[in-house]
Amino acid sequence: MPEGPSIRILQEELAAFEGRKVLSVAGTEKSFDLQILKNKTIHFRTWGKHFLICCPKFTVRVHFLLFGTYLINERKKARPRLHLRFKNGEVNFYAGSVQLLKAPPDEIYDWSADLLNKAWDEDAAVNKLKQVPDMLLCDALLDQQIFAGAGNIFKNEVPWRVRVHPGSRVGALPARKRREIVRDMHAFAFDFLHWKKAGVLKKHWNVHTKSECPRCHIPLHKSYIGKTRRRTFYCEKCQKLYE
Ligand SMILES: [Zn+2]
Repeated sequence: MPEGPSIRILQEELAAFEGRKVLSVAGTEKSFDLQILKNKTIHFRTWGKHFLICCPKFTVRVHFLLFGTYLINERKKARPRLHLRFKNGEVNFYAGSVQLLKAPPDEIYDWSADLLNKAWDEDAAVNKLKQVPDMLLCDALLDQQIFAGAGNIFKNEVPWRVRVHPGSRVGALPARKRREIVRDMHAFAFDFLHWKKAGVLKKHWNVHTKSECPRCHIPLHKSYIGKTRRRTFYCEKCQKLYE
């Protein structure tokens, strides 16, 4: 599943169509009439892993889920879920989910929760963490209402960077550590974006999919902790467990 920074890169790749009129629409999506987009002047926004096609009175949300992809000025053999043609080119979205939201995005989304948004609010995230003391850190870091855009790579890399065990209970973390985690989630989102654009994201993984701790040179643990049961990599020596 693409994480928030990948969705932001998509927005940048579609800059040529920003503020343009949709000349024609097609696609296999059946949950609403896609022709609602025809002849509309559209703007693109992102919130976490959601890609938003915005018109004044409604928004079309594209979520890539596990297998969603897109092509710009190119087509696959399979019919796209959503195809938009402009005077200067086209974009095709495949698989994933395409939904109609009948309100402008400002009425739907809390921009302060989006790690890459200018409105990101560190204090608000710290307060949200305080309200879930029983949650495990690995689950809290994937909670899109706290860290919109974060995915499994964030959940593995950030705890290692701040030396906290991902199985720690949020309520057991010292206040200073809680803030450090929030701050590093924000910093990591921009590191991720920068590395991904440069094509060097994987080179910067310290523990995600790795077998040895780069600090301690001992084997990493890999387990499926937390309610999400996603793959979690951590070092038992340098990442402190707060219980
Ligand atoms: Zn270590």
